[in-house]
Amino acid sequence: MADEFEISRTKMVQRLRDHYKIADERVLDVMQKVPRHLFVPEALKFQAYKDNALPIAGNQTISQPFIVARMTELLELKPSDRILEIGAGSGYQSAVLSKLARTIYAVERVPALAKKASERLSELGIKNVSVKCDDGTLGWEVYAPFDAVLVAAGGPVIPEPLVAQLKVGGRLVIPLGKDTKTQELVRVTRNESGFSTENFGACAFVPLIGQHGWQKET
Ligand code: SAH
Repeated sequence: MADEFEISRTKMVQRLRDHYKIADERVLDVMQKVPRHLFVPEALKFQAYKDNALPIAGNQTISQPFIVARMTELLELKPSDRILEIGAGSGYQSAVLSKLARTIYAVERVPALAKKASERLSELGIKNVSVKCDDGTLGWEVYAPFDAVLVAAGGPVIPEPLVAQLKVGGRLVIPLGKDTKTQELVRVTRNESGFSTENFGACAFVPLIGQHGWQKET
């Protein structure tokens, strides 16, 4: 899609590839195409392709491009995959996932964000994402099991329902931390007998608030 942000997007993708060592070309190709500036507040659109997170409504953030790329890459998606996404926020991560998998079930706890994300995705002609407003730490039982689960907010523990709703062989990526400020990015892979976990280093997300997350915002 050619627009006034084409060059900024190209620079963002070069940085993801050269500096952050994102190696999955499919992820880079999608991020070259999705108009990130349409997912940030109008006043911040000229900052949309910078190397940082930005504020959105409800005291939340749209994740840094690197984090979106890294989490997406770690999910090792196939075009036939069905994905559960927790913390849809602006809908940007959902838009990226929508181009790499078959169906995305996205949950967001802030009503105004869920509504806006859903509207934006429809306006962009994206039809394979369903957004609902709820506590995502409970998963989305009726559509389970999922091939992959992405949690875009930091919790204290791996929410048990999310592992239960993951297929055998499925991947779950989640920031986990002992406090609400910093986390480590963890990938959980479900296998026949239980699950294995891998750690991908420090990160900082807004808190995951819910029954299997933190109890309040502080
Ligand atoms: N991926 C988003 C960024 C999300 S920021 C984007 O691309 O814009 C994290 C989001 O998680 C916030 O919008 C926050 O409201 C939401 N969140 C926190 N706890 C949640 C929960 N239990 N269920 C669903 N959403 C939650």
